[in-house]
Amino acid sequence: MIVYESKLEGTKNQYEQLDQAIRTGRFVRNSIIRAWMDNQVKSRNDAYKHCAVLANSPQFPWAGLLNSQARQAHAERAWAAVERFYRNCKAKIKGKKRSARSEGTSELGRTKQGFPKFQKYQVRASVEYKVSGWKLSECRRYLNLTDGFKAGTFKLWGTRNLHYYQLRQIKRVRIVRRHDGYYAQFLIDYKREEKKELTGKQIGLDVGLNHFYTDNFGNKIDNPRFLRKDEKKIKKLQRRLSKTEPKSNNRKKARNKLGRAYLKVSRRRNDWVCKLAQRVIQSNDLVAIENLKVRNLIKNHCLAKSISDAAWYRFREWLEYFSGVYGVPVIAVNPSYTSQNCSNCGHKVVKTLSTRTHKCPHCNYVADRDENAAINILKSALKELSTTVGRTECEVSREIPLCLNVETQVSKGTRRKRKSSQ
Ligand SMILES: [Zn+2]
Repeated sequence: MIVYESKLEGTKNQYEQLDQAIRTGRFVRNSIIRAWMDNQVKSRNDAYKHCAVLANSPQFPWAGLLNSQARQAHAERAWAAVERFYRNCKAKIKGKKRSARSEGTSELGRTKQGFPKFQKYQVRASVEYKVSGWKLSECRRYLNLTDGFKAGTFKLWGTRNLHYYQLRQIKRVRIVRRHDGYYAQFLIDYKREEKKELTGKQIGLDVGLNHFYTDNFGNKIDNPRFLRKDEKKIKKLQRRLSKTEPKSNNRKKARNKLGRAYLKVSRRRNDWVCKLAQRVIQSNDLVAIENLKVRNLIKNHCLAKSISDAAWYRFREWLEYFSGVYGVPVIAVNPSYTSQNCSNCGHKVVKTLSTRTHKCPHCNYVADRDENAAINILKSALKELSTTVGRTECEVSREIPLCLNVETQVSKGTRRKRKSSQ
């Protein structure tokens, strides 16, 4: 599955209709979660049936306006949240918990294990259509939304060419609202495969704050400077937002500015990380990484770290994507002791975070701290491969398929246009 994205150009009234459709999608999802909590919905099939109940109810006249398959798509989203909760309960994965005391005392485990939540209003939201409710024009430059909201025809802005694919390959169309406008994502049923010659190289990557990664040959990739620059800008905008009056117009504007700044950062980061991941996969026959838990990563409050964590998370998603494209295995290994153990003799050499060099008292091996860790990561990956059992399941969630379009997010034409309108 690949995803192409285009910006939608329409009138203010049309965008309002999109807002209605997005709101209705959320309403369907939340209603089904509610019905599940009230024991009215017990299976995916019940969830589908509940969609029809909502659509025919005179209480919610708007629910019937959304395309029926789109309603189902949102029922699927709701049910996915329920299933994830069940799965977590079974696997005894702990989610957020309020305190150590509440652990084990709550019967339903609401505070842990990811109990499904109701969605609140957010700027970043989407509505999902399946194969009906929309129509592409003959030239594939216009998208017409044909369901009850009558949003009408939008011009598609973007450089990706939808002509290359058959209409029946487009399995879903998602309308995404962001701080800087509305986008259409086309989910296309297509498996990308590229040829790759063997390079005879295997690589282990260790992530850090000082460098984006260090490999087992001692090569370091620096964090790009723009991350630091963007961070400053975001800090400034956050300060400005906090100074505005609640519910004022200025607050709305400030929030939008901050949202746009975040979007810009994430696009640049994604672009950089995508190219880096492709390079790494193309020049190696095997890639070993640490299986870092995203949940643990996001916990810290330091902005610099959270930005680089997000970059690492994306990097890993792209590695896994290109792994499929080029047929290069990406193996995630348990991160414990990778930086402590000696990669030469295996003895544990305890060091603090500030110790930058690894000096082994047992075998006199000296190496850069991160390089030593990268070698350990590669070694444990190969060990895992040889035992053939323990291919660590990747932690990265697959909910949002990667969008290929980031490579060329906005066409030059749109960019110019936006600049002149400011
Ligand atoms: Zn040693």
